[in-house]
Amino acid sequence: MNLVLVVNAGSSSLKYQLLNMDDESVIAKGNCDRIGVGGHLSHKVPSKSYVLEQDCDFPTHTEAFEKLVEVLTTGEGKVVGSMSEISAVGHRIVQGAEIFDRACMVTEEVIDQIDGLSELAPVHNHPHALALRACSKVLPKGTPQVVVFDTAFHQTMPPKAFLFGLPYEDYKEYHVRKYGFHGTSHRFVSAALAEAMGKDIKDLKIVSCHLGNGSSITAVDGGKSVDTSMGFTPLDGILMGTRCGSVDPSAVTFVMQKHGFDPHQMSEYMNKKSGFLGLSGVGSDNRDIQNACLEGNERAILTSDILQYQIKKYIGAYAAAMNGLDAVLFTGGIGENSWEVREAVCENMEYFGIKIDKAYNKTIRGKLTKISTPDSKIEVWVVPTNEELLIARDTLAVIAESKK
Ligand code: ADP
Repeated sequence: MNLVLVVNAGSSSLKYQLLNMDDESVIAKGNCDRIGVGGHLSHKVPSKSYVLEQDCDFPTHTEAFEKLVEVLTTGEGKVVGSMSEISAVGHRIVQGAEIFDRACMVTEEVIDQIDGLSELAPVHNHPHALALRACSKVLPKGTPQVVVFDTAFHQTMPPKAFLFGLPYEDYKEYHVRKYGFHGTSHRFVSAALAEAMGKDIKDLKIVSCHLGNGSSITAVDGGKSVDTSMGFTPLDGILMGTRCGSVDPSAVTFVMQKHGFDPHQMSEYMNKKSGFLGLSGVGSDNRDIQNACLEGNERAILTSDILQYQIKKYIGAYAAAMNGLDAVLFTGGIGENSWEVREAVCENMEYFGIKIDKAYNKTIRGKLTKISTPDSKIEVWVVPTNEELLIARDTLAVIAESKK
């Protein structure tokens, strides 16, 4: 078996999937959670329907990795005899900035560079670096490790798309620009869509709508990201579960003054208290918003309307930016599962050439399928994302390349 371990480390969690790349199946998956504030492990082996939930002690990422090795190699949840059976590890990294435009092998220098980008992604990059160091310490010496960046896919954006209207010196000095995120997902789903349509991705103009707790929309022209809704951080763009998306920057300084917020407090306000949660007062989960809409909750209906309206505007803007549009795709927890959001986004878009089969759309959850009608000028699809699989594929590709 060609086993690849995919790791997605946050400041207090370490999510993992072990994939058998012979058939791309998931052998085991789970999460070491509450790192630094206690510790909890949840470990699943789908083939055995095995689930382990256990409180642990995870002072740092190192103990979490040690526990991961233990559950993969011993006890009822054991899936390998030893960690040397794992051919490689692929790490998801949020911010690669302008240094990394593709996945690469992990070296000491690469870890330092990722850590060095922490100022641009304080919540993510430093924990990634800690996890990379912990992984190198715990795994058998010589296990190849690869880093795959959320931002890399968007490095093809032209300056007219990624620069803000701020003094140019601050782009040069402080690297203030749009980076875009969810790149691995947008790359995976746009390639999967091209394959499903039986077309070469080079010939397609796609708007990829990744709608989850965090959401972003990307214009993919000929397989390349040419613009995307998230920006300098994953806060920009459309309304999200608890994130505000785009607001007039003057509203930010105004609210800071009114509430007496410092920058950290303002960041918490925009990242954790806004979005669906702040607008609706109902919650951050789309299902709760949709249920409240059914009950006639006016703020939930307003929240839902704002979301749909913003998505529509991005579709229109990106069709203009690309001078054409062949397909719109929906992915992520909301995009794959919420027929309500898909229907509302595609409503009144006939002028644009978008027409979906409403009855069919209502039946679709997490399935790769076309939901537009045969006479729709622009195809509309639901495309389930799988970032872990693409990270595992990239990991093997980078290793193969490094051996050439
Ligand atoms: P993350 O950005 O954390 O990866 P997900 O992609 O898992 O998030 O998406 C989570 C969102 O998907 C939540 O708002 C949730 O309500 C929504 N969602 C999940 N399942 C459904 C469903 N069956 N119907 C409607 N929305 C759903």
